[in-house]
Amino acid sequence: MAWFKKARTPMTAPSKEKPSRVPEGLWVKCPDCAQVIYNKDLATNLNVCPKCAHHFRLSATDRLRTLFDADWVEHDRDLASTDPLNFTDTKPYKSRLKASKAATGLEDAIITASGTIDGISAVVAAMEYEFIGGSMGVVVGEKIARAIERAIGERRPVVIVCCSGGARMMEGALSLMQMAKVCGALARLDRARLPYVAVLTDPTTGGVTASFAMLGDLNIAEPKALIGFAGPRVIEQTIGQKLPEGFQRSEFLLEKGMLDLVVDRREMKAAIANALRFMGCVTTVSQPPAVSGTATPPLRAAETEPAPHAS
Ligand SMILES: [Zn+2]
Repeated sequence: MAWFKKARTPMTAPSKEKPSRVPEGLWVKCPDCAQVIYNKDLATNLNVCPKCAHHFRLSATDRLRTLFDADWVEHDRDLASTDPLNFTDTKPYKSRLKASKAATGLEDAIITASGTIDGISAVVAAMEYEFIGGSMGVVVGEKIARAIERAIGERRPVVIVCCSGGARMMEGALSLMQMAKVCGALARLDRARLPYVAVLTDPTTGGVTASFAMLGDLNIAEPKALIGFAGPRVIEQTIGQKLPEGFQRSEFLLEKGMLDLVVDRREMKAAIANALRFMGCVTTVSQPPAVSGTATPPLRAAETEPAPHAS
């Protein structure tokens, strides 16, 4: 006979929850501080928690909205993957593509566009995490490479906002080749003496970190973003050690010299514009004067001004 006997009580069925009277998606709970935030307040605050400054993920379109002064011109919108390997894992790649297209309204995990950032004309590429984890396949690589070539042709700086799980496994080695292609294009941009700013957001991992995300003349990250090559769990299992607090987060990487700046999203546009001006970019569109009065005189005549001999 057992010394201790545990009285077994049958599990009770969960009581039927009262239906919520709050419409779906009107309120959001912050995963960091548990504050309940009104959705519209979150949107006006650029998807940053007003209480603890937790940075919620932004879609590629919203990201462009936060960076550009007004409307932008999108490039290569219709480029789409052809599923070159006819790949199937738990479900066919073709159906994953179809579902992602329906969910995001995009043809692949990136938007490339031209516009002005605080009056500086620039080419910006923003990655879309909702499209197969922001993974880099042939289309993402090609669109970035074309955006860089365009920037070289038009003498504009490049900003790439990274948000990606890495290379897209469904396109195998073809997606890995994009790392070399984009890096080659960035080398040409460098030779043309045009600046490149990499913005790293949560998450930036795998082949994206291993290529263009770390090659900026300035590498800026959002606070507490996960940035790394392999995930922390894989590293922990490989080295058999507990990883330090905050490992692979922006602040940790800044301390170790992997990043140049960690900037709050609400100050990101001003920080990028200041950096571009410092690197010699000029304001081509007249902007209302900044409140802080940080505008610096242009280094060379603005492109929109008529040449002296034109009259
Ligand atoms: Zn919060």
